[in-house]
Amino acid sequence: MQDITAYKFKNKKALIRVDFNVPLNDQFEVTDDTRIKATMPTIKEVLKGGGSVILMSHLGRPKGAEEKYSLKHLVPALEKITGKDVIFVSDCIGDEAVKAKKDLAPGEILLLENLRFYPEEKNGDAEFAKKLAEGADVYVNDAFATAHRAHASTSIIAALFGPNKMFGKVMTNEIQHLDKALNAPKKGYTAIIGGAKVSSKIIVIEQLLKKVDKLVIGGAMAYTFIKAQGGKVGDSMVEEEYIDTAKKVMEAAAKNDTEIILPVDSVNGDAFKADANTQVTPADAIEAGWMGMDIGPETLTRLGDIISKSKTILWNGPVGVFEMEKFARGTFGIAQMIADATDKGLYSLVGGGDSVSALNKSGLANEVSYVSTGGGAMLEYIEGKKLPGIAAIG
Ligand code: AMP
Repeated sequence: MQDITAYKFKNKKALIRVDFNVPLNDQFEVTDDTRIKATMPTIKEVLKGGGSVILMSHLGRPKGAEEKYSLKHLVPALEKITGKDVIFVSDCIGDEAVKAKKDLAPGEILLLENLRFYPEEKNGDAEFAKKLAEGADVYVNDAFATAHRAHASTSIIAALFGPNKMFGKVMTNEIQHLDKALNAPKKGYTAIIGGAKVSSKIIVIEQLLKKVDKLVIGGAMAYTFIKAQGGKVGDSMVEEEYIDTAKKVMEAAAKNDTEIILPVDSVNGDAFKADANTQVTPADAIEAGWMGMDIGPETLTRLGDIISKSKTILWNGPVGVFEMEKFARGTFGIAQMIADATDKGLYSLVGGGDSVSALNKSGLANEVSYVSTGGGAMLEYIEGKKLPGIAAIG
């Protein structure tokens, strides 16, 4: 593996897999350019060394070549951020793309069309990867958010570049921060895991149990655990088939000397609706007709105490239905408390689409130690899986 900061890019054409999967409004303007900005250090590194930049990405989930998912919509934002003209080619493979790559001069930036206009991308097709690689000298993977997929552009393509392959700076940063969080000392290490389903986070929970001092379980998941303890959860979302698993997790935690923290009180709604009636009850005494939709005020106070005494925090997943104002207080409260504690020396890593969006909405994204760009990829990394996008380079 090469180190991007040491590589000699002079007169080299660098094919960079970026994650430009950004939101667009109905005028096709980029409404959040965080992901584009994040790749600037990598792009600058190549240009500074005298190379040229070929960018490839997916955008959305197109079924074939759909105009609304064209990467041409990103050109104005990319030109503004880079301060340079961007050449766009309306295909990612084929004669037009290869010619554009060949004509590219040092210092220039070329953006290829959406990779997912071809099903071969997601299928990890080797022939497609070969066509993508044509005309490029070096491959850089800077798309952490898709590193858990063995797609043509994220993994299969790497082998075609021999030793001339490397991580971009987003990737390097992600790996460093996740490793730092995962290897933090157990004492003072708290993980807060929220979200909808035990089933999607169970392996992460099992892994974290071995590492952390305190594991806070929030969101809908908590009610499966509370029910497993014999609590009354009314109509809360429960995965009945995971009740046994929840019991086992609690037994394993006790053996590992890890404390599992479940909500003690709950904000309940009488319907899964933004204008539902609400009540606060103990989290294990919810009546039929009510569902637990957020952690209650007593739980939030207790979490505040835990967070302020922690040295490392890893947070993934909202602790309530934060999309609805009446059930958002817990999630936004946690975001604020983590930001405040970070200011006093806590190391905080936040990841997962919803927790990051809660941070962004409260304007706190710059007040935690690190915001991971990958939801699924981050979870799989914590699970201890070797991600195809990382394995292909390393
Ligand atoms: P995940 O993708 O697994 O992190 O789940 C995120 C989703 O979980 C969000 O859309 C939340 O609205 C939802 N969620 C969090 N808490 C609850 C709850 N108590 N009941 C139902 N859904 C919840």
